[in-house]
Amino acid sequence: MFESENVYNEQLKVELPRGITIFVKREDLLHEEVSGNKFRKLKYNILKAQELGYSKLLTFGGAYSNHIAATAAAGRICGVETIGIIRGEELENNYTGNPTLTKAVEDGMTLGFMTRTEYRSKGEVEIIDRLKARYGDFYLVPEGGTNAEAIKGTEEILKEGDEAFDYICTAVGTGGTIAGIINSSHQNQTILGFPALKGSFLYEDIRKFATNDNWDLVLDYHFGGYAKYNEELLSFLRELYRLTGVLFDPIYNGKMIYGVLEEIKKGRFKDNSKILVIHTGGLQGWNEKINI
Ligand SMILES: *Cc1c(COP(=O)(O)O)cnc(C)c1O
Repeated sequence: MFESENVYNEQLKVELPRGITIFVKREDLLHEEVSGNKFRKLKYNILKAQELGYSKLLTFGGAYSNHIAATAAAGRICGVETIGIIRGEELENNYTGNPTLTKAVEDGMTLGFMTRTEYRSKGEVEIIDRLKARYGDFYLVPEGGTNAEAIKGTEEILKEGDEAFDYICTAVGTGGTIAGIINSSHQNQTILGFPALKGSFLYEDIRKFATNDNWDLVLDYHFGGYAKYNEELLSFLRELYRLTGVLFDPIYNGKMIYGVLEEIKKGRFKDNSKILVIHTGGLQGWNEKINI
C-alpha cells in the first residue's frame, strides 16, 4: 500500500495581499483510508515490524484518534494484526455510536481500554509487560505514532520542486510531522508549525527529532486546546470550502489555515512570499459535521 503517491500542490484560490500566494499540499488525498500524515508515520513502522517478524502491532490513542483509525486500516491492508489501547475504560462496552472505534473493529483491530490514570503511565515497563502477557509479543508504536521510523516517513512529504517555497506551514500534534518536514527542507525556507493544542513543551519534543533550526511555532491558534473549536472556526471552514473547494478539518488543519491567514494580515510573511501549507488529512466524518 505504501507505493501510492497521489499528492499534488494546489493553489488556494483566496485573495491575498502583497503578492503572497498559498499552495496546499494535498496529503489528504494520499490514500482513501489512511490519509495524510498517519500514512507517512506508519509506513516505516509497519515495514520494520514485518522485517523483524512481528505479526502484531500495538498502539495507543483516544476514542476519536486519527492514528487509531489509520493503524487499523493499514494493518488490515498489510496483513498485520493490530491492537488499539484506548484512553478511558468507560468506553469498553459503550462505543457503538463512535465511528472511529466501530470502523477500527471492522478493520480487525482488537480494542483494549485503560483508565485515564493508567493511560498516563502507558510508557512504563510494567504496563508494557502486562500488555505483552495479555496480547502476546507485539511491535509497539507510541501514541500519535511519533518515533524515529515515523520521522523517516514524514521526511518524504516534501518533494523536488518544493524548495521554491519560502514558507512551509503545518499543523502540529506531537511534532513528528513538522520534524520530518524540517529535516527535508532547505536552509533558506522557514517552517512554521501551528499546534492544535496548548503546548510550549512542543519546542523540546520537536528538537529531539529535528536536525535543522529553520523553524518556529505559532502558538496562538489552538482555539482553547486539543479537539476544541468554536462556531467561528466552523463557519470560516465552510466559507473557505465554498470559495476554494478544499475542506480542512477543525481539529488540526482548520486551525493552521486560519492561523496562516491571520498571520498574513498581521504582516508575518514577507511581500511576494510563496507559502506551502501541508494538508495532513484527518477528514473522515467531517463532511456532515461541518455541514457543507
Ligand atoms: C495526527 C495529526 C496531526 C499531528 O501530527 P503530529 O505528527 O503528531 O504533529 C496533524 N494533522 C492530522 C490530520 C492528524 O491526524
